[in-house]
Amino acid sequence: MTQFDIAKDKLPMKDALESYGISVNRNGMCLCPFHSEKTPSCKVYSDSLHCFGCGEHHDIISFTKMYFNLDTQLDALKKLNDDFSLGLSLDKSYNPNKTEISEYVKRKTEKEQYADWEKSAWKTLRDRFRLMREFKEKYAPKNPYDNIDSRFVTACHYLEYSEYILEEYMNTPFEERRQFEDEVDSAKEFLNKWLNYCPEIKPITNAKKKEEASIELLPKFTKKREEVSADSLLKRRRRASAGNIA
Ligand SMILES: [Zn+2]
Repeated sequence: MTQFDIAKDKLPMKDALESYGISVNRNGMCLCPFHSEKTPSCKVYSDSLHCFGCGEHHDIISFTKMYFNLDTQLDALKKLNDDFSLGLSLDKSYNPNKTEISEYVKRKTEKEQYADWEKSAWKTLRDRFRLMREFKEKYAPKNPYDNIDSRFVTACHYLEYSEYILEEYMNTPFEERRQFEDEVDSAKEFLNKWLNYCPEIKPITNAKKKEEASIELLPKFTKKREEVSADSLLKRRRRASAGNIA
C-alpha cells in the first residue's frame, strides 16, 4: 500500500470537499468545482467524485492537484497530509520509489479508462431517454383521425423504461456501473436505428381506431349545428360537445 492509498483510505472525499468549502447535499451531490453551474450535477462517492455535467472524474489526489493547480500528484499528497494531519511520513526526504508511482499511475489509468466508458455509457442512456421524450411529444397524433406515427408508439412503449434505467444507473455506485454494459449496448443500437430513421419505416395506421372514431364522432363533425335538433337532451349535449371540439 502506497502513501497515496493510505491518504485515500484515511480521507473520505466528502470530508475533503467540505473542508475546502464545497458543500455536499443530502443526495451526495455538489456544485461542480470544475465548471460553472447553478444546480448540482457532481456526484460525490466515498473515494471519488464524478460530474455529470462536464465529465470530470477525480479521486482525492487528482482532485486536489487540479483544484489547487498543483504540479504533481506528490504535491497534492503533501498538501492533503498537511491540511488534514494525515500523519504520512512525507518529510523532505520522502521520495516515492518508482514501483510506488508506477503502481499508482497504472491504477489511475485503469480508472480513467473506466471513467471514459462510464461517461459515454451515461450519455448513451441519457440520449435514449431524451429521444423517447422527444418522440412522444413531437409525433403524438393531433386529432383522432391522424395516422399513428411509429415513433410515437415506440416512445409510449419505451419512455418509462428508459427513464427507469437511467435513474437506476445514476443511483448505482460509480464503480459498479459495468453491470449496465448490455443495457448500454442495446441503447446504442436503438439510437443508431432511430437516429438514422429511414422513410421506409412506415407509420403504423391504427385502422380500427379510425373506424371506431368515424362511427362515434364523425356525424357530429359533418352535421351543421343548425341541423342538430334542440328538442332532446341527448342532442343538445352532442351539439355542445361538437361546438367544443370545433
Ligand atoms: Zn463539471
